Amino acid sequence: MRLSSNSEYDDLRSAVREVCDRFPGEYWRGLEPDRYPEEFVAALTQAGYLGALVPEQYGGGGATLTEASVILEEISASGGNPSACHAQMYIMGTLLRHGSDEQKEQYLPQIADGSLRLQAFAVTEPGAGSETTKIRTKAEKVDAGWLVNGQKIWTSRALYSDLMLLLARTTPYDDCVKKTDGLSTFLIDMRKVDGITIKPIATMMNHNTTEVFFDDALIPDEALIGEVGKGFRYILDGMNAERILIASECLGDGRFLLERAVQYANSREVFGGPIGANQGVQFPLARAYAALRAADLVRFEAARMYDAGQKCAEEANMAKLLASEASWAAANASLDAHGGFGFAVEYDIERKFRETRLYQTAPINNNLVLAYLGQHVMGLPKSY
Ligand SMILES: Cc1cc2nc3c(=O)[nH]c(=O)nc-3n(C[C@H](O)[C@H](O)[C@H](O)COP(=O)(O)OP(=O)(O)OC[C@H]3O[C@@H](n4cnc5c(N)ncnc54)[C@H](O)[C@@H]3O)c2cc1C
Repeated sequence: MRLSSNSEYDDLRSAVREVCDRFPGEYWRGLEPDRYPEEFVAALTQAGYLGALVPEQYGGGGATLTEASVILEEISASGGNPSACHAQMYIMGTLLRHGSDEQKEQYLPQIADGSLRLQAFAVTEPGAGSETTKIRTKAEKVDAGWLVNGQKIWTSRALYSDLMLLLARTTPYDDCVKKTDGLSTFLIDMRKVDGITIKPIATMMNHNTTEVFFDDALIPDEALIGEVGKGFRYILDGMNAERILIASECLGDGRFLLERAVQYANSREVFGGPIGANQGVQFPLARAYAALRAADLVRFEAARMYDAGQKCAEEANMAKLLASEASWAAANASLDAHGGFGFAVEYDIERKFRETRLYQTAPINNNLVLAYLGQHVMGLPKSY
C-alpha cells in the first residue's frame, strides 16, 4: 500500500524491503516476549542502513533524515519492529552535532560499521516523568572524572548497547536561574564503567526496556558531550529527528495493518459476500487510510525542513501526533476487520496493535505534544 505519490524513494524502499523479506512474521513472533533482534540488526547494519545517518567521512551512509525515515517506515510496513534500530539513528545525532572532533573520530566509524552500538538513551526518571528538568540523577565533578548516582527508567536496549547517552544534573535544580540549565550530557562506554546495574522491565510489547541504577559510577572527563550545563538543549536538538523517525514507523505500521485488513476483508466471506463490502468494516479502514496519508504529508514536510536546516519543532511534533493517531486508528480498524482472527498471534495483527500503541506515549506523550502546539505555537496559556 502506498501512502505517497512521491516515487523518489522507490529504489530505497525496494532495497530495504529485500533485507526485511528475510525476516518474516515468524521471526518477529519468535522474539516475543523480549528477545533482541540480533540477526535483523546485523543484517541491517551489513546492508548499511543502521549507519545511514552517519556522515560519509566517518564511514556512514551520509543519508538525509528523509531517507532514514523511509528506511524505518519500510521496516515497519514489512511487519518488522524497527525499535531496535531507530535509537541508534537519532542518539548518534547528539554526538554528531555537539561532540568534539576526538569523540566523533573515536565513536562514529565504529557506530557506522556496527562494531559499537549506541542504542541507549537515558533521560526519563521515575520521579520526574515528562518533567525532564526535574531529573535527580547527578554527576558530580571529582578529580578522576564524574561520579554518577541516581536512577533512570525506561532506558530501552541498555542491555544490548555498548554506549549510553546520559542526561544528568550537574548543578542542583534550586541553584539554576533557568530550569533548563544545570543538566549535562555524557556518552558512557558501559563496558568500561563499574557501578551501573541494569534491570529489564517486562512490557506489553517486545521493546527491551530497562531501569538503570547508578551507584558511584565513575565516568571519565572525556565522556562529557559539549559544555557542562547545556545538556538539555543538546537533547532537545535531537528530539525533532526522533519525532520524525517515530512518525515514520507509525506510518509503516499503519500500512502493514491496512494492507493485511484489505486482504482479509476481500477474501473472508460471511452472509454470502466479502466482509469488506460492509460499510461497518470498510469505512473505518478508509478513514484510517485518509488519516495516514495526511500524516505522511506532514512527515515529509517535517523531514524536508529538518534536512534544510530549518526550525521544524512544530512540524515534527505534528507528524508524530498525527501518525501515531492514524496508526492507532488503523490498528483498531484492522483488528475489527479480522474478527476473532485479529487476536490470533499467527496473524501478526495483535502484535502490531501492541507495538504501534506505544507511540502515543513514548518518546513523548501526545498530551505534551498538544500542550506544545497550544502553548508554544498557538499562544494559549501554559499549563506547566
Ligand atoms: C516502552 C517504553 C520505552 C521507552 N524508552 C525510553 C528510552 O529509551 N529513554 C527514555 O529516556 N525514556 C523512554 N521512555 C519513557 C517515555 O518517554 C515516558 O514514558 C514518557 O515520556 C512519559 O513519561 P511518564 O511515563 O513518566 O508519564 P508521566 O509524565 O507521569 O505522565 C502520565 C500521564 O499524565 C499526562 N500528563 C502529564 N503532565 C501533563 C500535562 N502538563 N498536561 C497534560 N497531560 C499531562 C501524560 O500525558 C500521561 O498521559 C519509554 C517509555 C516506554 C513505555
